[in-house]
Amino acid sequence: MSTDSDGVEANRTDGKFGDYGGQYVPEALMPAIEELEDAYERYVLNNEDGFMDEFRRRIRDFGGRPTPLQRADRLSERYGREVYLKREDLLHGGAHKLNNALGQVLLAKYMGKERIVAETGAGQHGTATAMAAAHLGMPCEIYMGKRDINRQRPNVFRMRINGAEVNPVTVGRGTLKEAISETMRDWATTVETTHYVIGSVVGPHPFPSMVRDFQAVISEEARRQSKEQFGGLPDSVLACAGGGSNTMGAFANFVEDADVGLYAVEAGGSSLQVDEEKGVAPNSASLSTGDEGVLHGARTKLLQDRDGQIMESHSVSSGLDYAGVGPELAYLVDEGRVTPVNVDDDAALEAFHRLSQEEGIIPALETAHAFAYLHEEYEQLGETVVVNVSGRGDKDLESAIEETAKRDIPNAPDMDMFIGGL
Ligand SMILES: *Cc1c(COP(=O)(O)O)cnc(C)c1O
Repeated sequence: MSTDSDGVEANRTDGKFGDYGGQYVPEALMPAIEELEDAYERYVLNNEDGFMDEFRRRIRDFGGRPTPLQRADRLSERYGREVYLKREDLLHGGAHKLNNALGQVLLAKYMGKERIVAETGAGQHGTATAMAAAHLGMPCEIYMGKRDINRQRPNVFRMRINGAEVNPVTVGRGTLKEAISETMRDWATTVETTHYVIGSVVGPHPFPSMVRDFQAVISEEARRQSKEQFGGLPDSVLACAGGGSNTMGAFANFVEDADVGLYAVEAGGSSLQVDEEKGVAPNSASLSTGDEGVLHGARTKLLQDRDGQIMESHSVSSGLDYAGVGPELAYLVDEGRVTPVNVDDDAALEAFHRLSQEEGIIPALETAHAFAYLHEEYEQLGETVVVNVSGRGDKDLESAIEETAKRDIPNAPDMDMFIGGL
């Protein structure tokens, strides 16, 4: 490690990041949480029984790590600086999510658990978990909002063919927030046999720290690759932030390098203006605009109304569409170490087309947000920029057609043949 820590090192023992984090869970969940805390310390932090060695071997052979750090030639030329891409889209499954899913399913095995449960929104985390569970021979059940099941048929099918059960959640709006609550309820009654694989750096301690540690392989590699490929560290690192797991993974090994700027790019949606009456935020910018509250077991920054009710969030990319954000990220923002920024839906779609055209990489709509910010603010980002390509866009082609067709996107292909114009 080169530079000093600025005193922003997180406290790794009590799950608190300043005032954020903690364990705000019902009594029934405490035994599960305590057992997991113990397992996290033994296996992940202390490599007991060679757990981390096995994780590294499997994420290499099954997952395809290390992923490349690739120079983006056209973007480098366009912006007049060195732009490098950390290619998590090339990880098995097409996104960074497998790093965490494989780590947790393996941990469940070491803990002697016999069953995996997980929640999923758009289905990406459910798919990664189902793949990891099939790989390790563990039965797996995924809770998914009914509305999301109807919107994400290919992902539901992916989970099913990997052998997972998919349990529809019908309460509330039938989306991610309700699916998380439902999975916690399952876990509280099945603690002895079951591990809950949470999908991002959210939830009660030890989840935010543990998920960060599994995802930190991204910045561990990127740091080493930066030194090898351009002889130093980047001036800035950009990653999109939903719950914040690819963000924390991309930032973790740079946090102590005070000279490396860290930018968490959130979904600005259609507007940053909230509708207090309806309890709707037409964005998912919890780091930029949220305030402190408790959701899903942790204190963090949240999109909530004046009465503390969680607001409905929105983003063109379903993976960023969440009213909360990881507590450590909220803390690093308050400390001034991470800069929260946001771009709107239109800019993200434009970036989706730009990266496809100019680099031959179709990014996930989530990832496109990071590239939209690069496009808007490259002058502020220094000589060398690393962008975390959190995932590939194949999963988003249907929504990309729909969203592109209803906008005027200057760099998009002619949409006539896709909207019945022939
Ligand atoms: C799920 C997902 C995200 C958002 O999740 P984080 O926990 O914020 O990383 C971002 N990009 C892709 C490709 C995803 O699948």
